[in-house]
Parts: sequence; structure tokens; C-alpha cells
Amino acid sequence: MFKNEKPFEIIVLGPPVSGKGTQTELISKTFDVPHISTGVILHDIKSDIANPLAAEVMGYMDKGQLVPTELVNQLVAKRIKKDDCHLGYAMDGYPRTLEQAEFLNKNADVDYVFLISVSDATIIERMSGRRVCPSGHAWHIKYSPTKVEGICDTCGEALFQRDDDKEETVKSRLEIYHRETDSIVKYYEEKGMLIKIDGERHIEEVFQQIVRKMVYDMRSKIGWK
Ligand SMILES: [Zn+2]
Repeated sequence: MFKNEKPFEIIVLGPPVSGKGTQTELISKTFDVPHISTGVILHDIKSDIANPLAAEVMGYMDKGQLVPTELVNQLVAKRIKKDDCHLGYAMDGYPRTLEQAEFLNKNADVDYVFLISVSDATIIERMSGRRVCPSGHAWHIKYSPTKVEGICDTCGEALFQRDDDKEETVKSRLEIYHRETDSIVKYYEEKGMLIKIDGERHIEEVFQQIVRKMVYDMRSKIGWK
């Protein structure tokens, strides 16, 4: 029998609107490990006065500044050592840089790195097709169109495209994503750890691919062909 103290140390990488948050949540629920994201860590620290790093983090956040990467590293390292991570964790939104990936490699024993792979063209289509009404009801010109073009089915108000969803904005977000993530992907690829998942399918099918990879890996580790 193989013995891995924490068999589910799982990282999920992927571009914006790849559904990586959803997949990380599904992994978390299915394998009974906490869903960890830096957003939640930074949010929760406000009420975690026992944490010696809390005051330092709040100092940056109160001023609207980015929390420095070294500090984020310390927070993540602390978080994944908590008792609820005794079997592992499912993490998205970290590592975001090559330095963070290297830091994580020294401070954790990651078992699976999933890349939810979605082409730039699909991301642009998913985002630039979004339309919202002033009340925040969300639609998509292709995937969930309204009955009357440009009019919200729910409240009858006119739809518009948010600035964040405009093609130019999406393209510049993608550029940032590639600048940050391509080196991380290469890093895990060279270590033989990267598992590419076809993210252009339905949520259930994407999750199925993830679970299948994990089950096959565990089967081979315990000697079941
Ligand atoms: Zn509406």
C-alpha cells in the first residue's frame, strides 16, 4: 500500500471564466477537503485577530494596496497547515507567479496540478457575449439568450455590456493571465505534474475528467491495473 499522509493536495489553474472556481469547489466537496483561495484567506483574516500577520495584511488592504507576494506566501503556508487540511486541500488562485510555485514546492507536497484548458477564443466568446440589465440579471447572447434581443426576460429593462466584458478588456486580462501563468504551467509540466483538462466541455464532464485522472492515479499507486 502506498502511504501519503495528505493524498489530496490539489492545485487548480486556469484562465478567467474557465470555471476553475467551480471545479475547485466540486473537488473540495467530493474529496472532503477545504477549498482554499487567497481571496478567502485575505477576507477571513479580518476576523482572525489571533493571526500575527493580520495587522500587517490589514495595513495594506485598508490603504487599498496589494498585499505583497511574500506575505501572501506566508498566509498560504499557514493556511495549508491547519487541522482541516489533514487530508489535503483544493486550491485555486494560487500560485499566481513562478516564485509562488517554487515557494509552494518547498512548503507543500502537491499531488495534483490541474490546468482547466480553455482557448483564448472561447474565453473571449464567453465573456464578450455577456449582457446584464441594471438590476444585475445576467444573460449571454449565445448560451442564455433573452426572448427579445436586448431586453431582460426577468424585468423588461434594456441590457448592456459591462466594460469588463468588452473584447478589448478581456484581451488585456488574457494577456496578463498568460504572462503570469504560462511560466507556472511550464514549471509543473517540466516536473511531470501538470494534468491538462479539457475545459471547453460542460461542468459535469470537466469534473468527470478530473475525478477519473485522480482515480486512475490512485489505482496505479495501489497496484490495481
Ligand atoms: Zn433584469
